[in-house]
Amino acid sequence: MSNSVQKHENTPMNTLPFYAAQGDEVSIFEAAFKNKMPLLLKGPTGCGKTRFVSHMAAKLGLPLHTVSCHDDLSAADLTGRYLLQGGETVWSDGPLTRAVREGGICYLDEVVEARKDVTVVMHPLTDDRRILPLERTGELLEAPDNFMLVVSYNPGYQNVLKTLKPSTRQRFLALEFDFPNPQLEMQVVARESGLDEDRVSLLVRLAAKLRDLKGQDLEEGISTRLLVYCATLIASGMKLEMAVNTAMIEPLTDDEDVKAGLRDLVQITL
Ligand code: ADP
Repeated sequence: MSNSVQKHENTPMNTLPFYAAQGDEVSIFEAAFKNKMPLLLKGPTGCGKTRFVSHMAAKLGLPLHTVSCHDDLSAADLTGRYLLQGGETVWSDGPLTRAVREGGICYLDEVVEARKDVTVVMHPLTDDRRILPLERTGELLEAPDNFMLVVSYNPGYQNVLKTLKPSTRQRFLALEFDFPNPQLEMQVVARESGLDEDRVSLLVRLAAKLRDLKGQDLEEGISTRLLVYCATLIASGMKLEMAVNTAMIEPLTDDEDVKAGLRDLVQITL
């Protein structure tokens, strides 16, 4: 499980991860942190949620404990477990426990993917008790003032089994994210890839057309992440058509007819 956890130490202000705000999310995040409230970020994959959390952690000078949730992730992966070490059993904190002990932001990315028992450990941390009971060690940890729980999920997937229960979601403040508007997306893609404005503008226009196909031929609109990849490939010397095919068509679908349709759309746009 440790491969899905990343810990980021405090980042000095001058190395704030670049984040172009879409609206009032920065001040809302700051208010949530100040008032010790948990936050839920909703939005499609690759629209900037994770970057936003890294940016805010650095801005607030907090360590960030990120966990990418998956369908095998259980409460014990977050809280910790006894491990065998040289013939002895030693307790090892999970990332959530570490964040509660040390302070900082614990970010559970795609939380709906995790097993159901994860909600059980989140609940007492997401009301005014702000506690984490560790049954296995007999401890009852109280979260320090600088602890914040942030979770994200993508409401777009049409999977009724993978959604947050009202009893869980109503414990969080919530912010809705979407792909940045074209002007902002141009700024993001240009800055992240180093590609010139003209070609970035072309890619952003193409992305808008591809996003219009969401719900018809495509399950999800193309992410800003893929746009950044495409622009980066072009900036590093790859031919436009090849980069578009590799980063903006192939990742979206396996259906040959849909791919042909997307290529036609690309021809018209480029
Ligand atoms: P998510 O967590 O929503 O899946 P990410 O935060 O990982 O998406 O975003 C994917 C990539 O898109 C980032 O690595 C960054 O390059 C770019 N990106 C998207 N939105 C923004 C933004 N508003 N500001 C800066 N970079 C962004």
